[in-house]
Amino acid sequence: MELFDPIKRSQEIENVVMEGTAKRYYRFRFAPFYKSDMRKGIITADGVGCNLLCGYCWNLSRNLQPSVGRFYEPAKVAEKLVHLSEKEKNANADLYRISGCEPFLGEASARHLVAIIDAFERKEKPAGFMIESNGIMLGAMPELCDMLRGLDVHVRVAVKADSPERFEEITGANGDAWKFQEIAIKELNKRNISCSVAIMPQFVDPSKIAFRGTIPDQLEQEQLKKYPQTVKQMKARGLVVGP
Ligand code: SF4
Repeated sequence: MELFDPIKRSQEIENVVMEGTAKRYYRFRFAPFYKSDMRKGIITADGVGCNLLCGYCWNLSRNLQPSVGRFYEPAKVAEKLVHLSEKEKNANADLYRISGCEPFLGEASARHLVAIIDAFERKEKPAGFMIESNGIMLGAMPELCDMLRGLDVHVRVAVKADSPERFEEITGANGDAWKFQEIAIKELNKRNISCSVAIMPQFVDPSKIAFRGTIPDQLEQEQLKKYPQTVKQMKARGLVVGP
């Protein structure tokens, strides 16, 4: 696979997944648990379009062809999430997130995300909005971090690799962009925006991503989900899948 420039790709993908202030989503769902917490579910809007192409991505086929799903305005996304939360009232569903895609591809997609959170805060204050990001554009355009100031959110930056070389193997993107993940964490911390770092221990040695003291205390370990399709993708990339 030829390496690509994830900054350039961000712009190209944003052009496909944004139409004015609306963004593409293909599903709204309740996930019965979040991370390793089996007691807590999360209300999820599944979007499409990412600036990376990780070998283990469960949504890789859609992220390779992101012209799927329908365009939803931010208020509609918030409405659908709140509706799902009301339906799942008994399931401890007071966490929200957008998944399957990268929410920060540039200014338009960042504004869309902020408008969803604003719409939420006008309706009813959510217990928690998790923003899952690979951090590339937050690092490349730190002004996007400014848009999160004052919002009741938590940013979870998924650090993909512990070196530029490993970053290329895992994401298919040029290793020059690896540094943006570190910069994103620094910029979020600088603005006191609540954030944490998630890694997959199979691909990231935590001792190698000390990022010169910038990693917040919390370091989450993500589980590698071995769906048949992801195993196939990883093998095709030459990534060791393990037992
Ligand atoms: S950063 Fe996330 S959404 Fe993007 S390709 Fe990787 S795993 Fe998939």
